[in-house]
Amino acid sequence: MKTHSPCWIVKIGSAMITNHGTGLAQHHIQTWVEQIAALIRQDYQLVLVSSGAVAVGMQRMGWQQRPTALPDLQAAAAVGQAGLIQAWEQAFQQRNLLTAQVLLTHDDLSSRKRYLNARSSLRTLIRLGVIPIINENDVVANDELRVGDNDTLAALVTNLLAADKMILLTDQEGLYTADPRQQPDAELIHTASAHDPELDQIASPHGGQLGRGGMLTKIRAARLASRSGADTVIASGQQPNLLPELAQGLRHGTLLRAGQAPEAARKRWLAGQLQVAGHLTLDAGAAERLCRAGTSLLAVGIVTVSGTFRRGELVACVDPAGQEVARGLVNYAADEIQQLCGHSSAEIATRLGYVNEDEMIHRDNLVLTRH
Ligand code: GLU
Repeated sequence: MKTHSPCWIVKIGSAMITNHGTGLAQHHIQTWVEQIAALIRQDYQLVLVSSGAVAVGMQRMGWQQRPTALPDLQAAAAVGQAGLIQAWEQAFQQRNLLTAQVLLTHDDLSSRKRYLNARSSLRTLIRLGVIPIINENDVVANDELRVGDNDTLAALVTNLLAADKMILLTDQEGLYTADPRQQPDAELIHTASAHDPELDQIASPHGGQLGRGGMLTKIRAARLASRSGADTVIASGQQPNLLPELAQGLRHGTLLRAGQAPEAARKRWLAGQLQVAGHLTLDAGAAERLCRAGTSLLAVGIVTVSGTFRRGELVACVDPAGQEVARGLVNYAADEIQQLCGHSSAEIATRLGYVNEDEMIHRDNLVLTRH
């Protein structure tokens, strides 16, 4: 019987790919490709998430500073993506491996239909032995469409494919107890639960000059990846032979353990949604029940409704302190919930004149977001 081929998502940041903005790091690209090729020979399935479009574009245009205007960023990405994919393709070709460019925006992953579409094309590429090289489609993405950073994009892809592991290659050894650029006595964290709240205190929210994701983004990405049961490794992209050694079970960088069984695919898709159409504030009892028992949300536990949303849209549920506890797809529009909140399900018919469902959000369409 054929055993399961492990599927790993490897994300490489802009600073690594471009030698801190001085040009494509050809030498590094060769070593990563060699490592990936070694894993493919061991029957691993590999997907690459490669940043660097904007950084390579900036360099080709002779720009010293990352532009702030969206059209300039899009232009840089358009120029740079071509160079980036060419470099990967050539390096893989030397090892007789085929690559495919896959450019995604948040929109591709938030519509259920396109999400399933993206999943089947990625699965097909992998089955055909092709290595997908993914980046955000920065040329067309605006603020509403954008995932924003490739750590999060890698986590969304990890969830999409229910991958076993996500590896974030960066210019640091891993996650430290403090920012090592400022505190030389900071210590490397070898392993932690991705959900350890202490991690939020120590991680810097700032990325480098070239990319977008700082350590905080990486921790959040690890939490997202944990929804499909995937562990995350944050490690240095300069560590020789990193991927084959990780495959042998050796430790490198920081391992953030998922510590949870994979959620159902539909729930992972829900959790990966970055934009909500509105908010429901719950009373303390309802918030607690939702978190503890994962029950459906009834109107009686809702105190206020904000935003204008329609039936079927995604909303966030917040506790009385304003902290998000869950997200879900509503069975009623905002103005309907407004009329129902604080009332029992038995009163729906008299208050609205009709009943869609008893629940405002059914538990199958609800995902907990506080851990
Ligand atoms: N998609 C961006 C690029 O390729 C990078 C985003 C990131 O750094 O996380 O330039």
